[in-house]
Amino acid sequence: MTQQVFKDTDICTTQAFEKIDNSNGKIFRVRFEYKDPKKKGKVRSMLARTRVKKNITGKGLGYDPKEKGLRTVYDMALARNTNDENCYRHINTNIEYLKLGGTEHNVYKCSNLSKYFYGKAENENCPMCNTKL
Ligand SMILES: [Zn+2]
Repeated sequence: MTQQVFKDTDICTTQAFEKIDNSNGKIFRVRFEYKDPKKKGKVRSMLARTRVKKNITGKGLGYDPKEKGLRTVYDMALARNTNDENCYRHINTNIEYLKLGGTEHNVYKCSNLSKYFYGKAENENCPMCNTKL
């Protein structure tokens, strides 16, 4: 079988989340498919950043977004174009594109990377980030 050829800038979901976690308040662009079954197949593009402290209510979500594979970010376009006080949104593991610090990354799903692109079983390490799937 032919192996998928990756570009140097291609990353997996885990690596994309790491980059977001380390983005230090820099603005970045992401694209991800909605998880809501009603919006299946629809892709959300977002200009976002982390480390915004505006209008945090302190109520909390009642769960840890990271444990659910989500990243909480501040939606820049929403903040600019609406009067919505809550401009925090979640990025899910369907993330497929990340542009951060001038570099564009195609993001491949970590848990499916081996299977889809290398023809390996799912329980092998991800060839990108080397975590056990
Ligand atoms: Zn990975």
